[in-house]
Amino acid sequence: MEAFANPMKNNTSIKSIAKVLQNQLCEVYSPEEAQSITSIILEEVLGITLTQWVMDPEISIEPTQEKQLQEVLRRAMQQEPIQYILGKAHFYGLDFRVGPEVLIPRPETEELVALILEEHLSTSGKSPLEVLDIGTGSGCIPIALAANLPKAHVHALDISTPALDLAKRNALHHQCHIDFFQCNILLETPLLPALDIIVSNPPYVLESEKAAMNNNVLLHEPHSALFVPNDDPLLFYERIAGLAAELLAPKGKLYFEINEKYALDTEAVLEKFKFRQIVTAKDIHGKDRIVIGQKS
Ligand code: GLN
Repeated sequence: MEAFANPMKNNTSIKSIAKVLQNQLCEVYSPEEAQSITSIILEEVLGITLTQWVMDPEISIEPTQEKQLQEVLRRAMQQEPIQYILGKAHFYGLDFRVGPEVLIPRPETEELVALILEEHLSTSGKSPLEVLDIGTGSGCIPIALAANLPKAHVHALDISTPALDLAKRNALHHQCHIDFFQCNILLETPLLPALDIIVSNPPYVLESEKAAMNNNVLLHEPHSALFVPNDDPLLFYERIAGLAAELLAPKGKLYFEINEKYALDTEAVLEKFKFRQIVTAKDIHGKDRIVIGQKS
């Protein structure tokens, strides 16, 4: 941290600050991650975009901002995700408040939302869709859907009350009306009107996969939103597919984000519950990430 203090005191130009941030962060992150965290810090803490920085690297910062930067860097060096440090994350073009009570929204989940919208944007104006998100966390899925499907009636549940409180604040911020409710779907069946869409990004990481995970996820994100026992990897998929078979209207659709290792097994679960037109879609990295089925 010393290396940070000296150049900051002597020279507070953006160029030197960026260099210090980058060098320090490289001690705990890969150079690519360090670079991306550096530009997020510059943009969010100092309000300086990459373009401004490139065009005028010598612009200087206020002493108060220097203190703030020190604190953000101190936390980032402990591998706390930058989204938790700043208290916000971007998802599908929207800002979301996030904290350690919820998972940080992932780009893969943006792809899930994009796929649902692709399939429903053209018909959504005709009849109001009934939508349910299971395990909503920050509320990123239902809010992104509601923001783009203004006629939809969106419901969202989670087992965690602190997560729901945060999701409600996010919905309020985006002026979306979502019916949030607390529910442990492993034990309860929610009472809802016949649904057109059920979407879920449930916990799907195996305990045995922990060894390969980064500390910024392992030490900071909620394990209850991430992990499933090694001997029951499809715990949530079995239960949610069963619920969906009950709660979906005829031709209603179920959209799952999945662990890339379990595409075929998830498809088999949907077959067991008599879903049709079962499809697996890959994410941007070419990994099996989404499984879709239609109720007959
Ligand atoms: N995609 C997340 C991760 O890899 C996991 C999300 C989940 O378990 N639903 O960290």
